[in-house]
Amino acid sequence: MNFKDVLKFDIKHKSKHKLITLGYAVAIITAFIVSLTNNNYVEASVSKSERLDYIMIENNVVNNLSNPETIYPESSVENIKSLFNMVNTLVRERKEAKTITVEKGDTLISVLMDLGLNREQANDVYYKLNAQKYDPRDLRIGQKITALSTIDSQTGALMKVNFITLEPQAGERLIAQMEENGEYKVRREKDEMIEEVNSATGSISGTLSHSMQNQGVPAAIVNKFIQIFAYSVDFRRDVRKGDKFEVIYENKISPDGKIVKTGDIIYAALILRKDKLALYRFEHSKGNADYYTEKGLAMKKTLRKVPLNVKYRISSPFGKRRHPIFKDLRIHWGVDYAAPMGSPILAGGDGVVQVAKYNGAYGNYIKIRHNSEFSTAYGHMKGFAKGIRPGVRVKQGQLIGYVGSTGRSTGPHVHYEVVQNGRRVNPRTIKASAGENLAGDKLKKFKKMVAEVQSSYKNMFAQNEPAKVASK
Ligand SMILES: [Zn+2]
Repeated sequence: MNFKDVLKFDIKHKSKHKLITLGYAVAIITAFIVSLTNNNYVEASVSKSERLDYIMIENNVVNNLSNPETIYPESSVENIKSLFNMVNTLVRERKEAKTITVEKGDTLISVLMDLGLNREQANDVYYKLNAQKYDPRDLRIGQKITALSTIDSQTGALMKVNFITLEPQAGERLIAQMEENGEYKVRREKDEMIEEVNSATGSISGTLSHSMQNQGVPAAIVNKFIQIFAYSVDFRRDVRKGDKFEVIYENKISPDGKIVKTGDIIYAALILRKDKLALYRFEHSKGNADYYTEKGLAMKKTLRKVPLNVKYRISSPFGKRRHPIFKDLRIHWGVDYAAPMGSPILAGGDGVVQVAKYNGAYGNYIKIRHNSEFSTAYGHMKGFAKGIRPGVRVKQGQLIGYVGSTGRSTGPHVHYEVVQNGRRVNPRTIKASAGENLAGDKLKKFKKMVAEVQSSYKNMFAQNEPAKVASK
């Protein structure tokens, strides 16, 4: 016999208002016991108005329990009935949350079925997610997908899956909710993200990354900063104690104040002794941004000064020198970077491999054509990286071979040459950009943005002017 039956039975046969008082007491005690045993559930499933009713009734009972002759209005009976229904439901069903972490080999369908959907429902939700512009291939290993289901308290059997929530990216959710008719409806929710602009400046002592982190710049931004300048600065040699940095960057913040995403660097500058290198981010085509000098010259595609990412020593600079083997004075047409045997050699820029073969005094030799203006060459290699042969396209920084001592060489090093319009030039002083510079309307738009950044941060960076800015 459940509580409803007790109520019907009693209302028929005994003094009505005494029984109502008893009914209240039973309902409240039951609700209280249920709430003790399953507190979270009561919190989650009793609506605000139901809780208000509950509190009102409880107050009445406390006030009137001592006086069983109190007359209750007829509507109270309905209140009690609905309260009993609620208690009944509480006893019969409970809600359960389940989270699945996506593993290798999982598909969206398999995850949905693991969360309790049958094949038909899983297909239905799959297509509805698709219709909300969710690409199932975006499912990432480690991603968490959550379901909130209704479970039969007695048997523990799954009754239905009420909600499925997945986060395609931080601050964004896709929610599949079962409607009253048993069909799922999928909606997209987005946290309103606040974009916060931060800036920092400081003197460099010790490493650049240390100096930046000391000024509160997040590690992810420091790494981006270094990447931006890797094309134009040799950090080990060009940056000295007392040089300065400037950075302006964005963070994406969720409404509860968490950094959801470290954003992009808007502006980055290095103030070297007598030189200032300032770069601005600019979206040159939809979704594609690069960094440009104040004048709109692309920095990304500037050739690397050093085709290595390991510790090296300049064993022979560019220009006139006494030859280490012939002992006479001749021009050295490249820079020799000595590094351990087998160290990776990286492409100085994007381009196409023109030559990859043994080439007399150069030993194992690679030549890459970057564009109509620039080529680079690499000599004395121990060997070529897999797949490097004439005609192959390479990316800046891609592994092309290994440091060796083949050809006319006295020890492991890479001989690095930069050829500009057919003339060999010093890789350490090239400043000209080999990338696509801004022109026309884009340049106009870019210059406007530069002016805005400069005027906003004028005071902040005022003390950082170099001794003498080199003209470029
Ligand atoms: Zn050399």
